[in-house]
Amino acid sequence: MTAPLLECQNYINGQWVVASGETLESRNPSDWRDVVATFPRSSAADVDAAVVAARRAFKSWRLVPAPARAEIIYRAGELLLQHKEKLAQLISREMGKPLTEARGDVQEGIDCALYMAGEGRRMFGQTTPSEMPNKFAMTMRIPVGVCALITPWNFPVAIPCWKAFPALICGNTVILKPAEDTPTCVHYLSQLFHKAGLPNGVVNIVHGLGEETGRALVEHPDVNLVSFTGSSETGAEVGSVCGRTHKRSCLEMGGKNAQIVMADADLQLALDGAVWGAFGTSGQRCTATSRLILHRDIKEEFTNLLLERVHQLRLGLGTDPQTEVGPLINSAQLQRVNHYLEIARAEGTKVLTGGEIANTENLAHGFFFQPTILDKVTPEMRVAKEEIFGPVVALIEVDSFEEAIAILNNTPYGLSSSVYTRDVNLAFQAMRDIEAGITYINGPTIGAEVHLPFGGMKQTGNGHREVGTAALDVFTEWKTVYVDY
Ligand code: NAD
Repeated sequence: MTAPLLECQNYINGQWVVASGETLESRNPSDWRDVVATFPRSSAADVDAAVVAARRAFKSWRLVPAPARAEIIYRAGELLLQHKEKLAQLISREMGKPLTEARGDVQEGIDCALYMAGEGRRMFGQTTPSEMPNKFAMTMRIPVGVCALITPWNFPVAIPCWKAFPALICGNTVILKPAEDTPTCVHYLSQLFHKAGLPNGVVNIVHGLGEETGRALVEHPDVNLVSFTGSSETGAEVGSVCGRTHKRSCLEMGGKNAQIVMADADLQLALDGAVWGAFGTSGQRCTATSRLILHRDIKEEFTNLLLERVHQLRLGLGTDPQTEVGPLINSAQLQRVNHYLEIARAEGTKVLTGGEIANTENLAHGFFFQPTILDKVTPEMRVAKEEIFGPVVALIEVDSFEEAIAILNNTPYGLSSSVYTRDVNLAFQAMRDIEAGITYINGPTIGAEVHLPFGGMKQTGNGHREVGTAALDVFTEWKTVYVDY
């Protein structure tokens, strides 16, 4: 098939270097015969070289004034903007999301660069009166040190940027370990970071497998902080290594997000939200809507409208501009979703549409699953509580708002949530009672903005937040200073 686009290499100390071990392949999930690139299966020795470079660079980068660091980050944002279309096409090819969504992925990276560049002139501490005469008391932020950034494949540009730019503006140096399904997107990013003028060793990128390269990075004794986004299983593992080795950890993990639709809701609005929330990125967003909790009075009408819309969704290749729902990321994910359909059937749900691997002629070489609606789902079923990470939405009927909130909260996760209602009292009760890091009123469970904290409760997170000023709390230590005069 198509020749490899390029050879991704590790980026260490400002240079692209050949790693010691074998190489792996990144393939297009819409057509696995298309090899996008090769990338190194980095060893612990490669990781060590990156950590040494980051540690060395930290000595001087931490002393660069934050507004000067901001200028470089701003340039990185400008470069991302210039390369937006090319990067978006690469995302669609390597990760499979449709082009419009891929453009949004890059835009989030741009927004984050511009926002964090602004923080370079704001990174405020506080001054406060002392209890003592002739004493001055204040707080200031200082960088944490060498940061490991471990990222998933579903936002292959946005999430690396969401982690790297806040880390850098705070004066840290980083080693980024991208997901093995999307190395090329991050290889491209390394070229933009380099061109923006980051000093050698400030950003380092090490490709490889999670269990090997990722683990070596998390265990490395000279790493101070690990910022991880991925599944709750891996996050628990990463968190326990960090606990044992005394590292700060910021964990962003899975979700099982629900949208409630009350009887008084604007049904067309709720429908738009449900379709986009459940089937955007083929349901492979941590904030994807995977449960629709519907009030009995509108359940039938809403279900019929939803079915009509889902039948119209165009399943296709990520790079095809007509596509609305692309492939799943890889064969394992396709099998996982298929397995959840077996569970759903065994649990007694009713498959209203979809439910199968899609293998029409044009899709036969990719990992496509039909957009799926499950009806007759009850709150205790596994498909109502576990993260599926595919284009599958479960319908749950309720009689009251209180029941809806209880069911929404009845999952180990707590990332995003949404309530459609015209009743302002119910809206405020939802804000108060939902156990999730993000609640949308009359909007879908997706659509994060970079100046607001992003993250979740329960098994979704460990109490930290990404982006916004909350990210500064992850990537800095507070220093309290007393000055006698
Ligand atoms: P994953 O946990 O399989 O992998 C995430 C990253 O961790 C990859 O880079 C992988 O190589 C690395 N890794 C794997 N094992 C490791 C180990 N032992 N030590 C160190 N690193 C290791 O997750 P994924 O399949 O890439 O992503 C999908 C998951 O990510 C879903 O559960 C989704 O909900 C979650 N996610 C969460 C958020 C959020 O902000 N909460 C955002 C996006 C995705």
